[in-house]
Amino acid sequence: MLSKRVGDAIVIPGLASAHSHAFQRAMRGHCQRQQAELGSFWSWRGRMYEIASKLNPDSMYKIAKFAYAELAMSGVCAVGEFHYVHHQASGQAYDKRTELADAVIAAARDVGIRITLLRVVYERGGYAKDLSPGQERFCDSTLADAMLDIDTLRTNYADTKGVTIGLAVHSMRAVTRSSISELSSYAKKYSLPMHMHLSEQRRELEECLAEHGTTPVALMHQDGVLDKNFIAVHATHLAEGEIEMLGNSGAGVCICRSTERDLGDGHCEADKLVAAGVPLSTGVDSYAASDPFDEARAIELDQRSCREARTVVADATQLLRVASENGYAAIGMHGLSLEDHVTLDAQDPSLVGLANDRLDDAVVFCASSRAVREVDVAGTRIVNSGVHREYSTIRQEFETTLATMA
Ligand SMILES: [Zn+2]
Repeated sequence: MLSKRVGDAIVIPGLASAHSHAFQRAMRGHCQRQQAELGSFWSWRGRMYEIASKLNPDSMYKIAKFAYAELAMSGVCAVGEFHYVHHQASGQAYDKRTELADAVIAAARDVGIRITLLRVVYERGGYAKDLSPGQERFCDSTLADAMLDIDTLRTNYADTKGVTIGLAVHSMRAVTRSSISELSSYAKKYSLPMHMHLSEQRRELEECLAEHGTTPVALMHQDGVLDKNFIAVHATHLAEGEIEMLGNSGAGVCICRSTERDLGDGHCEADKLVAAGVPLSTGVDSYAASDPFDEARAIELDQRSCREARTVVADATQLLRVASENGYAAIGMHGLSLEDHVTLDAQDPSLVGLANDRLDDAVVFCASSRAVREVDVAGTRIVNSGVHREYSTIRQEFETTLATMA
């Protein structure tokens, strides 16, 4: 059991959200009405491009700061930021090329949570497609430019406590096979975490088959990209044999159920991934909701609905490990979940009446994130009595920022 009762509190290890796009917190509640143009992942993406086109370093910082403060108040102590908005809206680089990455890192540091900045590479609009409007600021002129930024970030944050640098490939559709291989060699050389949206959408599989004659995970396996530092984000639509390829390679899968449900992505076969030995982690992804307890329990509960059975993926202790230890490991912070602590109020209505020998069961399957009382990251208390130490200021700045972007 990972949860411990201490007086009227229950203490659990720090929780990690291994896949985040912090700026998407600005979209919450804006994409839920039934409209023809908002009917799928692809139309949701159009709205996301609109928001991304309005960002500047100041708004990026303030939105990310609120997003992270909300996560912290839900028990998240470490985040993997899959960062792909790099340049000005025109596509021209900022004078300081890493300005937006620096803004996101500063937001995490000021909130007090740990961050792994996964610098994303994005090269094209899709298979044999030019860039769509809105994608310019995600792309670099050359792969060398992108790799230079990864070098710069690694150098600049080498001695910064709580900050780790990794890299990411946006997706098969956005990056060429040769560039993915080059990035993989770089990640392996320096033992960096490498993340990639993989097999999220059925259209992605069809396009990958058309371009490469095989499916995304199989292609990554064939090219030797999968290894213990590789995280496939989503892995929703896996073809025959791909689960074993992931399992044999040591690669992990980050499941983001609140987003996958929200976007109508489908669901991955988490039970088969676990049976194959694939370490799972969870991520808030699009900030449709910010609740790490729900992200963890959804892996099991959604699978129960599909299989019409109970306890099909993992028990509560294993799921708590997915949300804590595995999440930290997925973003290159092995073992640090035990240096952070989340204290839950055992008097919270969602936790009252639970048995001491079933604490993990109650925390994972029943706890409301409202029960989070204190959060300590590397010995510093950042949430007290359920509220982040600077919540009022951070909230006001966020609301003002949203008003200027409306
Ligand atoms: Zn994502």
